[in-house]
Amino acid sequence: MSATPEVLGLKRSFGFGDRLGLATPGHIDALRGSGFAPIFAQQSIREMTRTKRTPDEVMRAAVQALAQEKWSGPWGADADHLQTPEDVVRTAKEGFTFFTIDPSAHVNKEADALSLDALKAAQAQLVARGDVSATGARDLYLGKSFDLPGGQSLKFDDETALLRAEVKYGAALMHTARLYGTIQGACGGKPFEVEMSVDETPSPTSPIEHLFIGLELRRQGVKLVSLAPRFVGEFEKGIDFKGDLKLFEAHYRVHVAIAKHCGPYKLSVHSGSDKFTIYPIVARLSGELLHVKTAGTSYLEALRVAARVDKPFFRELIGFCRGRYDTDKATYHVSAKLSDVPADPADADLERLYLDLDSGRQILHVTFGAVLGGEHGKPPYKGRLLDLLHKRADLYREVLAIHLGKHLKLLQG
Ligand SMILES: [Zn+2]
Repeated sequence: MSATPEVLGLKRSFGFGDRLGLATPGHIDALRGSGFAPIFAQQSIREMTRTKRTPDEVMRAAVQALAQEKWSGPWGADADHLQTPEDVVRTAKEGFTFFTIDPSAHVNKEADALSLDALKAAQAQLVARGDVSATGARDLYLGKSFDLPGGQSLKFDDETALLRAEVKYGAALMHTARLYGTIQGACGGKPFEVEMSVDETPSPTSPIEHLFIGLELRRQGVKLVSLAPRFVGEFEKGIDFKGDLKLFEAHYRVHVAIAKHCGPYKLSVHSGSDKFTIYPIVARLSGELLHVKTAGTSYLEALRVAARVDKPFFRELIGFCRGRYDTDKATYHVSAKLSDVPADPADADLERLYLDLDSGRQILHVTFGAVLGGEHGKPPYKGRLLDLLHKRADLYREVLAIHLGKHLKLLQG
């Protein structure tokens, strides 16, 4: 039963990304008693490329650990941030059960700033390409209002806003529907579940945009288990939420209502690592309809083991990561500057500065690919780190159980 991943359905769930393939025992300890369904294998194509791992390796690491731990409950496997049909086929072949479609390359990121004329021209292009129908959104939604659970209602009363949503997401929705078809084919009758993620867009997903996306996917026959909007506030890597909690709560509440109306499906919180201040809010408002994804925070706990038991090695890693940071941060949402943290602190300060405080965490977080990918003619850090984690498996398990356990405790509301 536990040997292969399963679909988890509309139940609270938590994704434990594990870039090193040794974190599952600690993840199990963190999860125990939480009431969350686990996703023990979760890796995006981007992470696999950067760490030079394959879907098969990611799956095998989880399966072996779960067998050793005699895990007998259900668990899921998330092929995260899939962009192409090839990504789908590669991961479906290895038995992944949860497919996260990331159509952000097809989101028109300029749409927010386009004039009415430019929007009309952009829509005409979408029609010509067959991504949207000529009168689609207007005929379907303009002037219509939707009563959401909880008493609120949303109305498409602004023709320009509706057109903007169609231009912004039209091609992304079509891409999602196509990949959904690929997933159906690749799974060949086996159960699967699908998430759509638009969390990596520059501006937050407005309620009317979410409603448009949810209604359109339903209309196109795409059945979601979860959707990851881009929420208000900052979801930087490896650190707590930054922003106005009251505003976040108000927006989140509307997103929950839309997810119930259009699905029901779960709201998925990406970059969920260390977002401690919002956990009680999302737990309270979501009920069972919640999924949280983490990954980098487990990698940082691996580095914590190094900080505790091999300070010269940890110091060497810090030097290497500082050298990579300004290049590697480009594809991540972070705000740390190298000058925020001393390059060569005293031994007693290493762990606190680089693993407890925000800037140090971000410097070590976004450089994981350079460390684990072993490129750039640098020493094979991955091998040394893995050796250390094998030797101190007890400590790695313990720090993961504490840190991820804190996540799950706060998520119980
Ligand atoms: Zn994401």
